[in-house]
Amino acid sequence: MTVTAIPRVLVVEDEIDLARLIKHALARERHAIVEIATAGDEALARLRSAPPDLVILDLNLPVVDGTEVCRRIRAEPATAGLPVIMLTARSAESDRVAGLDLGADDYLTKPFSPRELAARIRAVLRRRGGAPDPAAYRGRLLTADFDAVTVSVDDQPVRLTRREFELLRCLVDNRPRVLSRDRLLERVWGYGHAIETRAVDVHIGRLRAKLGPAGHQIETVVGIGYRFVE
Ligand code: CA
Repeated sequence: MTVTAIPRVLVVEDEIDLARLIKHALARERHAIVEIATAGDEALARLRSAPPDLVILDLNLPVVDGTEVCRRIRAEPATAGLPVIMLTARSAESDRVAGLDLGADDYLTKPFSPRELAARIRAVLRRRGGAPDPAAYRGRLLTADFDAVTVSVDDQPVRLTRREFELLRCLVDNRPRVLSRDRLLERVWGYGHAIETRAVDVHIGRLRAKLGPAGHQIETVVGIGYRFVE
């Protein structure tokens, strides 16, 4: 579940000079491979054709604005779990809250330094399970230690396969966000794996059964995928 490659980032920003500045700054330090979209509809088309690892989304865009792009990213099963960092020229608290309500992972107010942006990208990808996370999960019934690769329910150890363990970790890492089947396939099986999305359902079913009374913490979101709830 580690992402060793440099993350691919889509920058959605109509101010082309700023977009290029971000691109060059992130590329120079090898923080990210950056593609640019200068309008919301262009961004949505690109997300469908070649989904990146993360989106940097300006709030103020012509035609389809950033809030609408974010809403559609979250509504579309294939992109529902995609990390989004929003950019805005405005620093009003209400904008920040609106962006986060729409499902943005983080928020950056212009002007910002490329170093700050790179740090936010790393933090968001780490939180989203893109990098090793030493954190353990301790709920009322379920306990998972992601370093020791141990899971227990009601103090009884549970034996999971590697895939089941990684599925659980991915869902826990991203809680309470819904992850689409495609996203889970990508994260747990890896890109380009010739496997059907139905395999995710099968593994989720087994994982739930093994978790017994804690199995209900993995919720089905009809038509989209799954999420982990407290
Ligand atoms: Ca703009």
